[in-house]
Amino acid sequence: NSKGWDLACTSHLEEIDAARAPYRETIFEVAPLLAGDVSGGEPMERFNPADPDSLVARVQTASPEDVETALSKAKPWDASPAERAEILNRAADLYEENFGQVFAILAREAGKTQMDAVAELREAVDFLRYYAAQIEYLDAPALGTFTCISPWNFPMAIFTGQVAAGLAAGNAVLAKPAEQTPVIAHFATTLMHEAGVPRTALQLLPGGGDVGAAVTSDARIKGVAFTGSTATARKIKQAMAEHCDPGAPLIAETGGLNAMIVDSTALPEQAIRDILQSSFQSAGQRCSALRCLYVQEDVSKEFLAMLKGAMDVFRLDDPWQIKADSGPLIDQAAYDQISDYVEKARKEGRLIHQTASPDKGHFLSPTLIRVNGIEDMEREVFGPVLHVATFKSKNIDKVIDAINSTGYGLTFGLHTRIDDRVQHVTDRIEAGNMYVNRNQIGAIVGSQPFGGEGLSGTGPKAGGPFYLPRFAEAKTPDVPE
Ligand code: GLU
Repeated sequence: NSKGWDLACTSHLEEIDAARAPYRETIFEVAPLLAGDVSGGEPMERFNPADPDSLVARVQTASPEDVETALSKAKPWDASPAERAEILNRAADLYEENFGQVFAILAREAGKTQMDAVAELREAVDFLRYYAAQIEYLDAPALGTFTCISPWNFPMAIFTGQVAAGLAAGNAVLAKPAEQTPVIAHFATTLMHEAGVPRTALQLLPGGGDVGAAVTSDARIKGVAFTGSTATARKIKQAMAEHCDPGAPLIAETGGLNAMIVDSTALPEQAIRDILQSSFQSAGQRCSALRCLYVQEDVSKEFLAMLKGAMDVFRLDDPWQIKADSGPLIDQAAYDQISDYVEKARKEGRLIHQTASPDKGHFLSPTLIRVNGIEDMEREVFGPVLHVATFKSKNIDKVIDAINSTGYGLTFGLHTRIDDRVQHVTDRIEAGNMYVNRNQIGAIVGSQPFGGEGLSGTGPKAGGPFYLPRFAEAKTPDVPE
């Protein structure tokens, strides 16, 4: 895995500061990157979510003609497997070499704190190197042209993971990044081209839902990788059913209603640190984030008092500031939607705690809301809002049943010092990624393949050995004689 940067080390901090400084005020220009001429659609502007008056980029979105150009020029990557691996590894090196610009864009366009930005760059690099290494075992033909639709919450890591897998398998990729975060996707694509990925194999189509719809409803598309909401995944599936070959795969990573159980044997200091990270880091804008915490009744009073105290010193700030623990929500729409939700809980008398937040920018303070159980939650709230319930030890199986019955199955956390309980819960919980006595975010490529079941996604897990084969024809390997 990529070494990354150590934010506790002064020389690393100085290195980061110097490297990102030239991009503090840059106004980036983004346009489609095609293997033919660009006509350009609706112009769009992007602003800094921590400072909404500050312009970050002018974006030319892809027009319907641009989509047609991309579809007609796309050509599966015909380089040898070894050459593809070499070029993807070179792209990983270029990503790392350009860390200053990457960190600046991630902070200013996506509101990523420095800590999150380091993790994001490392994950992107890891995906490139991991799938490059897997090419050797693939031995199966590419599918053709693949569409990759990535989210704004991991605008470099997930963007790169999908694209790298598509390319590693030898497909042509049409990448449609989230409307909110085209700048980092544009920069990443430029670096992949510079590394040697041909333009016919990788084209970038910035834009919104209309572009997404166009690149998922065309018979020339042989597969789609998507990360985003469960509702959008359903729409894509419908569009593909109508327009694409029946066998064209949809690889979707979608939402979660993730829970954690903390029993009375847990180490409170450790559990609270892990809860803070899981719920409030990245402003809770991760599909892996903790949404519903179950605390054993016997310790809940002291535990909640401690949690509130920890929330009060959790620092919301402009993500450019190294000391920020979390940045803002991605945009005004997200802010409005989540504030309404919190307001409703306040009116119902269910608000337990909310800290202060900066006046400027789309900052929403870490918030605790009381629930009877996860069944009270109607939907995923994609922000720094943690729901808290208590449970009696003898009812732990009922808690597990309630968690399983949401239909989602992404991440799950358990804090306990009882070994039998770890085994018991592990055997029963239905979740893609279960974490014991640690936080439940930040899966590491290679060692913690990430992805869920049920409403949370189709599998296969990203950053694991079964991901790449889904981007290629199914083929029985040669059986040794
Ligand atoms: N892989 C990320 C994590 O483990 C979450 C991805 C997402 O939010 O889509 O935190």
